[in-house]
Order: sequence, then structure tokens, then C-alpha cells
Amino acid sequence: MISIALDGPAGAGKSTIAKALAKKLGFIYVDTGALYRATALKFIEKGIDTNLDCDIDSILKTVKIDIRFIGGAQHVFLNDADVNDKIRTSNVSMMASAVSAKPPVRAFLLDMQRQLAKDNNVLMDGRDIGTVVLPDATLKFFVTASAEERARRRVIDLEAIGEKADYNSVLEDIKTRDYNDSHREIAPLKPAADSIVFDTTGNTLEQSVEKLYEIINERLK
Ligand code: C5P
Repeated sequence: MISIALDGPAGAGKSTIAKALAKKLGFIYVDTGALYRATALKFIEKGIDTNLDCDIDSILKTVKIDIRFIGGAQHVFLNDADVNDKIRTSNVSMMASAVSAKPPVRAFLLDMQRQLAKDNNVLMDGRDIGTVVLPDATLKFFVTASAEERARRRVIDLEAIGEKADYNSVLEDIKTRDYNDSHREIAPLKPAADSIVFDTTGNTLEQSVEKLYEIINERLK
């Protein structure tokens, strides 16, 4: 099976790029952030805040996550309910960043991610795909963009789902998430030594997809 890892910070355009690329390549697109988000949703439902003052293991025992591909698109299920739409809010983003720093949460989601890459040609997007989840991935990319450009894009995405978004607070959230994601002890966000770093600042989505598609075809020859 061929596996392509696409890691990078929040809002670099990874998921939109990965979706378009996976379609062009005929691969399954796996959005691993959605798994952390669905797990985070359970913690929110239990009334827990981002300090995570709770028994994480016992909460994880109440979490069942599945992903199903409906019409080619990934849907995440939390205890058999499709939570795909519910997990996109800013609240869930911040909680996902908090729970993902906890080793039991990462261990809980690791096998599921590896299994997907065993069974399918995948393009998998996340933070630690090239470094931890699939260290032997066929190809690894680290997709990034300036924090300001990522905040501008995120404001557009949030407004599209009807959430009122203030640019400055979105920028602050992005910087906080970058800091949390890259300074945590376990699986911190960083480019794998053998990854190709790709900066999307100033690119249109189409330009990024075309360029990456060219690189992939060249490398897979
Ligand atoms: O990619 P997305 O923004 O949906 O991810 C939400 C959060 O989940 C990230 O901020 C990060 O903390 C966490 N995450 C992670 N490892 C991954 C994917 C996401 O820690 N592979």
C-alpha cells in the first residue's frame, strides 16, 4: 500500500489540499484531526474544561470512535453518532489541542490510524503522521503557511459554518495551538527528517494542489 503523510500546523490548508489530492490520486483521505476532535467532544459533553482535571483513562473507556467513508468522504462517529459537523467549532479545536497532548489519548487513536494505512492507499493528514504514526510512509510532506495567512483562512471557514469569527482572536488561538502542538512532550508537531517542507503562503488552493501533485507523481515514478 502507498501512504502519503501530510503534517503541518492548524490552518495551513492541509485538509482542503489533502482532499483534492486524494481524489486526483484515487487514495483514501484520512483526516486524523477529526479523530482527536471527536474524542475532545466527549470530554466537552462530560463538562470537562481544557485543564483536563479528570480521570482521562476512565473517560476514554466511554469513547468509541469509528470512521466511515460515505460517498468517498470521511465521517467520524462518536459512540455511533455522526459528529462530523459538531466537531468543527473553535471550542472543539481548543479541546482537541488539550486532549491530544495526553499520552493515553494518543495511544487510544494510534492503532486505528495505522490500520487504515495497512488496508488502503492513504493520504493521511495530521501532526505526527510522518514522525510517529507512519514513520515508513512512502512520502512525507510538511505543509505550512504564515500564522496570519492561516488566521485569515480560518476566519473564512468559521464564517462558512455560521460561527462569528474575530480575526485577532482566531490568530491568538492559532498561535496558542501552534505552541501547544509543537511543545508537547509526546509526538510534538515538527517536520520528519525525511519530509518535504511545502509553504502554501500566497498560493491559491489550486496552485498548492497542482504543485504537490507534480511532486508526488515525480517521486512515485
Ligand atoms: O487538524 P485539526 O486542526 O483538525 O486538529 C485538531 C487538533 O488535534 C490539533 O490542534 C492537534 O492538537 C490535534 N492533532 C494531533 N495529531 C494529529 C492530528 C491532530 O495532535 N495527528
